Amino acid sequence: MADLMEAQIQQLRQKLLDRQRVLIAEVREKREQAAAEGNEDAIGAVGDAGDESVLRVATDLDLQEAGRDVQELNDIDAALRRMEEGSYGICDECGQEIGYPRLNAQPTALRCIADQEKYERTYARGATPSL
Ligand SMILES: [Zn+2]
Repeated sequence: MADLMEAQIQQLRQKLLDRQRVLIAEVREKREQAAAEGNEDAIGAVGDAGDESVLRVATDLDLQEAGRDVQELNDIDAALRRMEEGSYGICDECGQEIGYPRLNAQPTALRCIADQEKYERTYARGATPSL
């Protein structure tokens, strides 16, 4: 368990839940837009937050955006799950505490800053950092 205080976790949890609500509304809106444009088949799976292939299906700009939202929803789900398990705030790579300032800036952070930078250099070539 990280050294985060219960009050801090609750605060971050609230942030995640607020963000989740916004994203779900956004995804729903984009689905409706895409449906109106006749892309219903392509976007049918976007609401399924568990399916990463959704991101590959998303070719249209709206869909790409929806895909990013779905990815973020996945991250939020994972963060909420880690809170329940008591592993929230622990770096996935080195097991050190991520630290409240970083979590406050990015509540879905999986890694400490050093490991996140390493990860992005290694796996996410060309991708923009999420922070
Ligand atoms: Zn680390």
